[in-house]
Amino acid sequence: MAQSNESVHVVCPHCDAVNRLARERLGEGPSCGNCSKTLFTGAPLDCAGARFDKHIGRNDIPVLVDFWAPWCGPCLSMAPAYKQAAGQLEPAVRLLKVDTEAAQDLGARFGIRSIPTLALFVGGREVARQAGAMDAGSIVAWTRQYTR
Ligand code: ZN
Repeated sequence: MAQSNESVHVVCPHCDAVNRLARERLGEGPSCGNCSKTLFTGAPLDCAGARFDKHIGRNDIPVLVDFWAPWCGPCLSMAPAYKQAAGQLEPAVRLLKVDTEAAQDLGARFGIRSIPTLALFVGGREVARQAGAMDAGSIVAWTRQYTR
C-alpha cells in the first residue's frame, strides 16, 4: 500500500511537463511547476503520437484511454459521460481520448477493433480493456475495480 510520503509523477495536460509531487497533494488542486496551470482540469485530454506515449509512460497515476472516432454515434453519445467520469476519477486517474481516425497508428498499435473501447494503463502497461459505450457511473465503477 502507498505510504503517505510517497511521491508521484504527473504529466501536465497543458505543457506535458512531468511534475513530481507528494501523493497526498494530488487532491489539493496541484498546479504545474512549469506552466502554473492546474494539473487536473476535470476533463479528458485529447492526445496522439508522442504526447500519448508520454502520458502513458510517465504518469504514475493510472491512465484511462477512450479510443473513439468522430463518425461513431455511440462514441459521441458517450463523450459527455466520459467527461463526467473524469470529474469523478481525477486526481486518482488521468483520462485521455484518442481519435482513432486522426491517430490511426495508435488504433492499429493497440489492436482496437471496435469503438468506443476503453483501455486502462497502470505503469505504462495495459491492465484492462472494455469495448462498448458506458454511462458515467459504469465507467467510474469499471475503472475503480482495477485502481483500488
Ligand atoms: Zn504545465
